[in-house]
Amino acid sequence: MWYVYVNHVHNRALVHHESCGEVNKTLATAKDPRGYWIGPVESKDLALVIARATGKLTADYCEKCRAEPK
Ligand SMILES: [Zn+2]
Repeated sequence: MWYVYVNHVHNRALVHHESCGEVNKTLATAKDPRGYWIGPVESKDLALVIARATGKLTADYCEKCRAEPK
């Protein structure tokens, strides 16, 4: 599964794979003033479409998650 983190501070939406440390570290945080999570999303491609639809300046894959298989 894939997750999108919408970050208000950096004005970006990053796509993470469920195995990413970022997901495990902050997904459980109920109140996060820096942004919010969307997901789980079934596919890598759909997650990027959702990231772009947030309207943030940057929408991309997380550096660590880019190489993960679909
Ligand atoms: Zn990641």
